[in-house]
Amino acid sequence: MNHEERILSATDGRDEQLDLALRPRLLSQYIGQEQLKENLDIAIQAARGRGEAIDHILFHGFPGLGKTTLAYIIANEMQTSIRVTSGPVIERAGDLAAILTSLQEGDVLFIDEIHRLNHTVEEILYPAMEDFQLDLVIGQGPGARSVKMDLPRFTLVGATTRTGLLTPPLRDRFGVILRLEFYKVEELVEIVTRAALVLGIKIDPAGAVEIAGRSRGTPRIANRLLKRVRDFADVKAAGRITSEVADAALTMLAVDPQGLDEMDRKIILTIIDKFRGGPLGIDTLATAVCEEKNTLEDVYEPFLIQQGFLVRTPRGRMATQHAYEHFDRPFVDSGDDSNPKLF
Ligand code: ADP
Repeated sequence: MNHEERILSATDGRDEQLDLALRPRLLSQYIGQEQLKENLDIAIQAARGRGEAIDHILFHGFPGLGKTTLAYIIANEMQTSIRVTSGPVIERAGDLAAILTSLQEGDVLFIDEIHRLNHTVEEILYPAMEDFQLDLVIGQGPGARSVKMDLPRFTLVGATTRTGLLTPPLRDRFGVILRLEFYKVEELVEIVTRAALVLGIKIDPAGAVEIAGRSRGTPRIANRLLKRVRDFADVKAAGRITSEVADAALTMLAVDPQGLDEMDRKIILTIIDKFRGGPLGIDTLATAVCEEKNTLEDVYEPFLIQQGFLVRTPRGRMATQHAYEHFDRPFVDSGDDSNPKLF
C-alpha cells in the first residue's frame, strides 16, 4: 500500500491551506501539551521581560503533533517575524548564510526536520547559534577566503521526530528541549470542535468524539478526518456530523474504532499469523508487509506501540496480548527464545 494515499498519515499530503486556517495563534489557544506549554510560557515571559530574543528551542515529537504551530506561536507571542524552512531544503552553506543574514533582531528561524541538515550546513549553524556569528569560506583552493559577520540575535526553533537523530553538538546548542506527546481523546475533541467552528462545519459533540477517538492522538489527522467526514455528511446526511454519520464515514474509509487502518492491520496480523506473534526483526517485517523499514519505524510503529499493540524488544518486534484480543486471535504466551510452540 502506498502510504502517501493514506488518510491516517500524519506526514504526507499536507494541506497547507487547512494548516494555516486551523493554526492557533496564541499559546493560550493551543490545546493540550500542558507541561510543555508551561515551560514555553516561562521562557517567553522571561525573554519578553528582559527584552531579549528567546533561547534556541528544539521540539521533538511525531509528525502532525503541532511543532510548526508552536514555532508560529512563539514568533507571534514575541511579536517578531518568522522564517520557515526545513533541513533537506537547505542544500549548501550559502543557502543557510543567505537566510541568516536576512534575519532581523529577535526573529524566529524555524527549521523543520533539522536532523536532515547536511554536515557542512550544520557547521555554519554552530557559531551562528552560539555567538551569532557567520563564519563562511567563500571559493575554493588558494583563492578561498573566510568571511566573518555579526548576525542579529535570532531564535532558532528546530523540529525533529527524535532527538536521537541530532548530532550531539547541535543538540547541545539548544537552550530548551521540549517533547510533544500524543494527544488525549478529550483534547482532540476540543481540537476537532474548534476546527469545525473555524471551518463552519456542523458537528454534534458525539460526532467530535467519534472522530477524535480515531485520530491516532494526532491533531493533523483529526483535522483531515474532519474534512473527509464533512464531505460524507454533505452528501449523505444534510451536512450535519452526528456520531452515526462519523462512524459510517470512517468505516467507509477503513479507519477502525481504534484508529487503525489497513496497513496497521496488515502489520499486526503478519506478526501474529505468519510469525507466531514474533519476535521478528524490523527488516523481516518490512519485507513481509512490503513497506520501507524507515516508514515502518517512523510512521506506523509509534502509534501501534503507544496503543499497546506492538512491543519492541531487544530480540525484535512482538505482538501483544491486546493485539491478539483486538483481532480475535487466541493468545499464546510465547515466553522466551526457547519457545516450545516452535516444536
Ligand atoms: P508538526 O509541525 O508537528 O508536523 P503542525 O504544527 O503542522 O504539526 O500541526 C498540524 C495541524 O494540527 C495544524 O494545522 C494545527 O492546526 C493542528 N494542531 C496541532 N497542534 C494543535 C493544538 N495543540 N491545538 C490545535 N490545533 C493543533
